[in-house]
Amino acid sequence: MSSIVGQGKFRLGRGRSGLGLFANVMFAAGERVIEYTGERISAEEADRRRGRYLFHIDAGHVLDARGREHLARYINHACRPNCEAREEDGRIFITAKRAIAPGEELNYHYGRVYFRAFIAPVGCRCATCARRAGAVSRRTASAPPPPPPPAPHAAGSGRRGAPARAGTAR
Ligand SMILES: [Zn+2]
Repeated sequence: MSSIVGQGKFRLGRGRSGLGLFANVMFAAGERVIEYTGERISAEEADRRRGRYLFHIDAGHVLDARGREHLARYINHACRPNCEAREEDGRIFITAKRAIAPGEELNYHYGRVYFRAFIAPVGCRCATCARRAGAVSRRTASAPPPPPPPAPHAAGSGRRGAPARAGTAR
């Protein structure tokens, strides 16, 4: 993968959940990290296309980031993420929730609807859920099965809609 992409602020790499986007530089809490860019299409058109990189801005508008130049599409879901998606004037900005150091993988919560539809059935692979799964496996075999991971509220208004992606970027 080219390191020129993203003006050196990002790199693509292997994350916990497959291919992911990593910070090459520091980001301050509250700073805009990257815009979620894509082709702007209607919700109806999104339903026709399906696809893996649809971001629902609101009820009627969707960004389709199927082109590889749309870097933000590589950001994976996490249940306790370091970024959040914020909608401003119909655009989606991935913003740092806390200070982010170079080398950290960027992630944000894809939203409760998306989580329940696509992530929970196969098991979330984010760091938080992996720790929880590890703790469960150390208990005795007679322990009851663990409850499904809770899906916290999405921090931003920009959410992935349920009919959109068939899975996370892998
Ligand atoms: Zn998780």
